Amino acid sequence: MIFEGLSDKLQGALSKLKSKGKLTEKDIKDAMREVKLALLEADVNFKVVKDFIKKVQERCVGQEVMESLTPAQHIIKIVNEELTSLMGDVSSKVVISPKPPTIIMMVGLQGAGKTTTSGKLGGYFKKQGKRPLLVACDVYRPAAIKQLQVVGEKLDIPVFNMGDKESPINIAKAGLSHALKNNNDLVIIDTAGRLHVDEALMDELKSIKSEVKPHEILLVVDSMTGQDAVNVAESFNETLGVDGVVLTKLDGDTRGGAALSIRAVTQKPIKFIGMGEKLDDLEQFHPDRMASRILGMGDILSLIEKAQENMDMDKARELEQKIKKQELDFEDFLEQMEQIQNMGPLDKILGMMPGMGNIKDQLGDVDLNGKEMKRTKAIVQSMTVEERRNPTILNASRKKRIARGSGSSVQDVNRLIKQFNEMKKMMKMFTGSQKSMKKRGGFA
Ligand code: GDP
Repeated sequence: MIFEGLSDKLQGALSKLKSKGKLTEKDIKDAMREVKLALLEADVNFKVVKDFIKKVQERCVGQEVMESLTPAQHIIKIVNEELTSLMGDVSSKVVISPKPPTIIMMVGLQGAGKTTTSGKLGGYFKKQGKRPLLVACDVYRPAAIKQLQVVGEKLDIPVFNMGDKESPINIAKAGLSHALKNNNDLVIIDTAGRLHVDEALMDELKSIKSEVKPHEILLVVDSMTGQDAVNVAESFNETLGVDGVVLTKLDGDTRGGAALSIRAVTQKPIKFIGMGEKLDDLEQFHPDRMASRILGMGDILSLIEKAQENMDMDKARELEQKIKKQELDFEDFLEQMEQIQNMGPLDKILGMMPGMGNIKDQLGDVDLNGKEMKRTKAIVQSMTVEERRNPTILNASRKKRIARGSGSSVQDVNRLIKQFNEMKKMMKMFTGSQKSMKKRGGFA
């Protein structure tokens, strides 16, 4: 789950307030101290933390909050709004030029994920109907060109390269002409990185910039490097000027410092986040959704978008009706498992849901890997149609028969029934009222 330590600590500090009725200034001060520590431990820039706490505290001791009937909810709302504003308030998009091709220049240090992200971005825009061209200008890192070619092949996106003997500036220019000739309306230039920011690198990037006049310079930084990422962003922005940041490796064990400080320190927005090594693990960055995820309020909007990308919407509507009427049966269960499996690893999906910690506990041993799926299928297929539609009739002798028929044990059958019931509960929560979320400890 994203920024787990930070998320737990912030939620801990704020939920202490929830258990109190009226709040005193001291209660708020104590909570703010905890929030401050949590942010510092997450490696958020010191000055950013100081400003943040000052703003939140000022708003929290205001009359409206202190006299409200639900002061804790108010404070959570304020923290949510200020976290959002720290990351930029609105989602910033890549500017698409009215006169094609749009040129995006990718810059960053070696290992940040530039080449991977160039491919991911190409795939992202291709899905939106663009005709991207990837241009391989990293002539220094061994195998960078080959890597881009492999990525391009996987995504079925053309890659322009001139080997590693030509200068990156000439390659970029030739790439542009190639795009014009071949009707590519988006050019993504993968430039070279270095281990550290140095003058030679910056000079080269400046030359490419002045030759090809990109519409966007996107800086790729590795979120795992915390404040170093922020420093790198500052120096690239000062020397070269960047339009936005792509923060990679947010799927890893990263504390959150980079995500929460970059915008405040550099004034440049995070535009995309990398959530894994696969080529579709790229998400547009939404500050409000990220703040909600950090505060455990879930990110239902991103989840719905992900579902829309992967699900058969007619089936989803049919399912929604069934859940509303409480008619979910084992055939739907099987279908759902398959669809969720298409969406990616379960813990990632759960991370987007409100009250996720609790659900994870409830789900316990639900395993969506291939072996478990096969067993589940076999068990469901060994049920009669009547049993699938009406699982309550599954008594001991029916379970025994199903276990025998599917080559599994009665315990396996029982476990599946338990999982099915948990899934039913989870589904109800999805479509259910805010009341049921509150009961499970979410803030919604
Ligand atoms: P470059 O030197 O900046 O071009 O970096 P690469 O694109 O070669 O990426 C360096 C490593 O980071 C590779 O192993 C990538 O698979 C990995 N990587 C890139 N983005 C992500 C991400 O969002 N999440 C994870 N887990 N790994 C990533």
